[in-house]
This record gives sequence, C-alpha cells and structure tokens, in this order.
Amino acid sequence: MIEGIIIRGYSGFYYVQTNDSIYECSLRGRYRLKKQDFLPGDRVMILPRQGEGKGVIEELLPRKVELLRPAIANVNQAILVIPLNNKQPDLMLLDRLLIMTTNAGIRPIICFNKVDLADENVAADLKQLYQKIGYQTILTSAKKEIGIQELKNELYGNISVFAGPSGVGKSSLLNAVEPGLELQTGEVSRKSQRGRHTTRYTSLLALKEGGFVADSPGFSCLHLPEMKREELASYFPEFSLQQQCKFTTCLHHTEPECAVKQALEEGKIDPRRYEHYLDFLVEVIAKERSY
Ligand code: GDP
Ligand code: ZN
Repeated sequence: MIEGIIIRGYSGFYYVQTNDSIYECSLRGRYRLKKQDFLPGDRVMILPRQGEGKGVIEELLPRKVELLRPAIANVNQAILVIPLNNKQPDLMLLDRLLIMTTNAGIRPIICFNKVDLADENVAADLKQLYQKIGYQTILTSAKKEIGIQELKNELYGNISVFAGPSGVGKSSLLNAVEPGLELQTGEVSRKSQRGRHTTRYTSLLALKEGGFVADSPGFSCLHLPEMKREELASYFPEFSLQQQCKFTTCLHHTEPECAVKQALEEGKIDPRRYEHYLDFLVEVIAKERSY
C-alpha cells in the first residue's frame, strides 16, 4: 500500500496524489457502507491496481484539522490577503481573520498585496506591526512580481487556503506562484459559478515543488467563533504581558490597574489593535447572550 493525499472527489471517485502520480480511486466497501466522508486533504493509504493509474482507498489516516467552508481536511495554513491600495487597509478584517484562523488551529500568514500601489512607508510599518506581534508577514505584488518567492517558500510542503474578499488578488498571487495552474481569475470564475446548481467541489492544486493550495477561498463567512468574553484577549498575543492586570477577570476595558491599557499608553500595544479588540469584545458579548 502507498500513502497519498486526496486532491479531489467526484461522484464516488477520489483522485489521490502520491509521491509520483495521481491515482483514480474508489472506496473499499466498508467505507462505502459507513458513508464516511472523505475530503480533499485527507491522507489515505491506497492499494494501486497494476499499471492502470487506478486504485482502492483502503484506509483513512487521522485527520488533524477540518475546515468546513470550503470542506478540506488537514489545512495547516491560511494566507490572509489584504490589499494595500490607496484606500485605508482593512486591518479590522485582518484582525478578525487572525482570530478565526487561530481558532481553527490553522497558522495564519499575512500577505499585504498590491504593494505596487501603496506608499512604501505604510507597507513597511504594517509589516513591522504584525511581525512584532509574531505573525509571518509578507509584502507582495502579484502584478509586479514582488515577494512572490517569499510566498512560494511559505506554500511548499504545506496545505494552504487563501482567504480574503474577492478582488484582493488571491488568484493573481497563485498564478504568479505557479503560472501552470491556470486558475480562473476573478470575474471568469464568479460568472461561471453563477447559475450552476450543482455543488461545487473544492480541489487541492498540487504545486510542482510540493505542497497543495485549495482552489476556493476560505473564511468567507466572517462570524467570530463562539467564545467567552475573557477568552478574546488570548487571540491578541501582544496583550499577554509580563505584568498582570489587577483583576484576573480583567477585560482590559474600564477596569482599573489594567496592564494592557498601561501598555497601550506606553506605546507597546498598537492603538488600532486595541480598538479592534474593543469592537470584537462588544460582538463576543452580544453573541454570549444569545446562547
Ligand atoms: P481575487 O478575487 O482575490 O482572486 O482577485 P484577482 O486575482 O481576481 O484580482 C483582482 C484584481 O486585482 C485584478 O484586476 C488583478 O489584476 C488585480 N491585482 C491583483 N494583484 C495585484 C497587485 O499586486 N497589484 C495591482 N496593482 N493589481 C493587482
Ligand atoms: Zn486588563
């Protein structure tokens, strides 16, 4: 038996990428009976049939992470694409996506795209801000091919999903990384999806030098995960300071002797990040009440 990764499922068949080729596989009977769902990204053991490029999936290996939209298993990182055009960059969206990916157990990589349109200092400042917090941050331009090698280095050996609203350059970036993928950019894919009533299956695109990328974006639904209000601060790594707040239940809002607010005053925490924390806190509390 050999190990492989499901890259696509289609009417009862699964395409499994192994070290050397792709096998069209059916499921061993017991899996068919159990109605076990197999997702792109699942690692499986297959028994190839001699010389036909076909085989049977014998065993599903343990799934580490499961993403629902799109349905992919074992995604280990999300490329959060935020454009830096002449408008104010949407850092609120970025901070929201950082919470969502961390909560899903997926490593976020921040990709500030369209740097060709941005002020150089603004781009450098943003990179520094997020890198200091501990996030891998890259500056790219799909158009001018800036930072593409850096992005490539992040993708190889991983299963990645791109995230960010439409128009930010996700498909352009992927095409710049690997021109052969023939990914449908923007308008084309949106148009052809409309009016098609069948479910759209997500596939993984295999990169030449190793690693996979989902062909549809993740985290398009932007609800914060369910959590208790006290948990929110744990999604802001820079809030965990050496000094403690007076109250262990401190929400870093109106409480006295708050170490976070002190750090904010001393310029150790960025005011934009703190502001977004307060916005999210309102949202988390409102949601808390509804369950
Ligand atoms: P997606 O919807 O996120 O996949 O975005 P697309 O890849 O379809 O890109 C949306 C638009 O932004 C297209 O017109 C691209 O040509 C443009 N675009 C993408 N990346 C860049 C970039 O780095 N710089 C500039 N100036 N335009 C870009
Ligand atoms: Zn506090």
